[in-house]
Amino acid sequence: MTRDDQLKRLLGPAGPELTCEQCFDQLDRYVELELAGAPADERVPGMRAHLEGCPACDEDHASLLAFVAAGGPSSPS
Ligand SMILES: [Zn+2]
Repeated sequence: MTRDDQLKRLLGPAGPELTCEQCFDQLDRYVELELAGAPADERVPGMRAHLEGCPACDEDHASLLAFVAAGGPSSPS
């Protein structure tokens, strides 16, 4: 690890970062934007940074993304 990396860890991510609660609130919308090909990271600032730093939310995001991509609960099959 370089000195810069250590400094970054102390200071946290450069951009705004959501809390887990905010992340959870925005996750549906974020996933919908992603799947729509919209600039999700612009619409929901801080989400990407949070997912990269929070394995629990990253996992929630991955499973929601897979779930919605597969058609979600309301899609006729
Ligand atoms: Zn989190």
